[in-house]
Parts: sequence; C-alpha cells; structure tokens
Amino acid sequence: MKRYFVVWPLLLCCRQATAPDNLFSAEPGGTNSRPAEITPADVRPHIEYLASRALQGRGARPGKLLAAEYIRNKFEQIGLRPLFFGGGFYQSIPGPRVKSGEMEELGRNVGGWLPGSDLQQEFIILSAHYDHLGAEGNIYYPGADDNASSVAMLLEVARQFAAGKPPRRSLAFVSFDLEERLLWGSRWFVAHPPWPLPQVKLFITADLIGRSLGNLPLSTIFVMGSEQALGLKDLIERTPAPPGLHVARLGVDLVGTRSDYGPFRSEKIPFLFFSSGEHPDYHTPDDTAERIDFPQVARVSNLIRQVCAQAADADSTPRWTDAPEHEIDEVRTIHHITELLLARDDADKAARRPGLSNLQRFTVSNIKTQLGRTLERGTITAADRPSLVRSAQLLLLTAF
Ligand SMILES: [Zn+2]
Repeated sequence: MKRYFVVWPLLLCCRQATAPDNLFSAEPGGTNSRPAEITPADVRPHIEYLASRALQGRGARPGKLLAAEYIRNKFEQIGLRPLFFGGGFYQSIPGPRVKSGEMEELGRNVGGWLPGSDLQQEFIILSAHYDHLGAEGNIYYPGADDNASSVAMLLEVARQFAAGKPPRRSLAFVSFDLEERLLWGSRWFVAHPPWPLPQVKLFITADLIGRSLGNLPLSTIFVMGSEQALGLKDLIERTPAPPGLHVARLGVDLVGTRSDYGPFRSEKIPFLFFSSGEHPDYHTPDDTAERIDFPQVARVSNLIRQVCAQAADADSTPRWTDAPEHEIDEVRTIHHITELLLARDDADKAARRPGLSNLQRFTVSNIKTQLGRTLERGTITAADRPSLVRSAQLLLLTAF
C-alpha cells in the first residue's frame, strides 16, 4: 500500500525458513475434508514464509521470485488453471532494454482461475499484491501485514473455491507484483488483460488485513468502493460478518488510490478494497509475522470468501455510478476512531507514556467536534463531503 510519509527504524531477525508444502490436504476439485471455515492455522504458514528473511522483503530477485514461485505452486497444487496467454501462471512485466537489446523483466504477476458454470464469460477477480520493500544492507522489510496477510487470504480463499462446486461466474485469483512501485503490476494487467475488461464484473483486493488501524483496540475491517457501484452496498450488507469482526464501509475518496484497485477504478470497473489500516510498523522492519493477528486474518478471509461467492452467484452484477451516495455511517466510523485516539492518549498521559503531541491532540479533538455536529444533525449532504475527506486525510496524516 502507498504511504503518506515514511519512518525507518532498525531491526534484525535471523531465522531461515523453508516453503511449507504440506498445507493442502484437499485433492484439487475433490471432496474437501477440511472444515468450511478458513482458520488461523491455515493462514499462518503462508505469512511466516512470505515474511521470512529468506525472501528478503520481496523487493528484488531472488527473494521476490521465491514469493512468486510459492504462489504459483500453490495455485497449481489446488487446481487453478493458468490465467495468462500461452498457458502460464505468470504475466511478465517488461522493463527497460538491457545492453544485449533484450527486454529485462521488471516483475511478474501471478494468476490462476476457476471456470464458472452458466456465466463463465463473466469474471470476479480477487487479488493481493505480493511484492514489498525489499532489503537495505542487513535490514530487510518483512512486510508480514503488507501484504503477506492478504496473499494468505488469497491462497486460502482460492483453495476453498477449488475444493467446492463451481459458482456461476468464473473466479480469477491474481497476485500482483510492483504494487509498491506506482501500482505498476496492476497497471500492466489492466493494459494487457487476459480477457476484454468489460467481462470483469467485480475487482476485489485486500492490503493490510492482519493488524488494526494505528494499533487501536479495533477489530474492524474497512471496506472501500461499495459507494462507487450500485448493488455493492447490498452485497456487503447481505454478507454476515464472522463473529468478532466489525465491517465498516468507507468512501474510497477518503483515502484516495492506496492499492491495486486504482487502475480498475480508472476503468470504471466496480471494485472493493479491504484493509484494517495502517499502523506504526507499516513500511518498517517491524512489520513482522509475530505481530500479525492470525485469527483476524482468518475472519477477514472468511468474509471475503463469502463476498466472492455471493458476487459469483448473483443474478445481477454491480453497475458503476459516477454519483456515489454517502452515508452517516462513515461519519460514525471516523468519529469513533477519534474517540479511541483521544481515550488512548488520556491513558498514555495518565501512565506518563508518550502520546499525541499538543498539535495532534488539538487536530483530533477538532475533527471529533466537527463530526459530532454532523452526527447530531443525523444527515450528510454532498456539500459536506469535501470537509469530511479533508478531515479523514488530516487524521490519517496526523495520527497514523
Ligand atoms: Zn501493500
């Protein structure tokens, strides 16, 4: 996920890891002896391996290639079909010409799919980028939350669908490369899609699903983009949230383009973006597997699996709208976050721990007061939107 500004603390860890390969007991497409729910034990080995020192922060070869290979092998193991031209699981992303005149490979997207039944020509794409920041000298950026957490979700959701009865629409599972470099992998995919883009009925992506916003006491997954297509709000509201998980819909304009939905949004393809939000370890060497909330990753994975199933079997598909509707719930969600921030700051101050600076506290309090007034009024108008967007972005910049 792209960031607003950067902090680089120091950290070293030395455990070598090998790719776990006995994860999938289910035969591809056969009967699945595993429980229906995706469990913490399912997602954990993926995250531990992808965030291990062996993969060197998945920013360059060979570490990044090991990650791509791992995902490719899992896709093949669970019985997905290769997604790209020429029967490959890889979509090579060309870079500059090298001396020999050859085109250097800048990266590779990894993709597999499952044919649907009667609406096979319509596609639901589920994605999660696998690249991260790499290493600098002896310091590497594990990227456990960004974005090994969502790659684990992608692999386990794909496994569940591959082991079950095919839905009506086809499902494509794509792990993009080069998200950390201006979304280059998803831009390349949209410019070179395996099928005409109008056949893509919904694009779903996740980025950071294994922690909480600002390490706040939240078990919330934010879902962005449902306001941008008719039918998506109902789809999310019809999907029961797994126990212990709170689902909060927010307008994508509150955060801007932060991940691989960007190029799809530009093509006006309906999309959903799932994230539990930034935290102090984001884009630092402290984003390690040990700090991941594995039960939350499993809960979010089960939620996304249900959303995919509903979208793949629904009679109709979401329709893009250029006039998104916004609701007071968004204001309630952001207001609640300001309350949590101030409550934590009170506790920090009482315990003589470093908390918010005076300016940060002043900013957060101001936003809380302003949002409180809107909540009292109980309605939100289009005219309110610009100031709500400013408040949300100021909050993200100030407190996270
Ligand atoms: Zn990311």
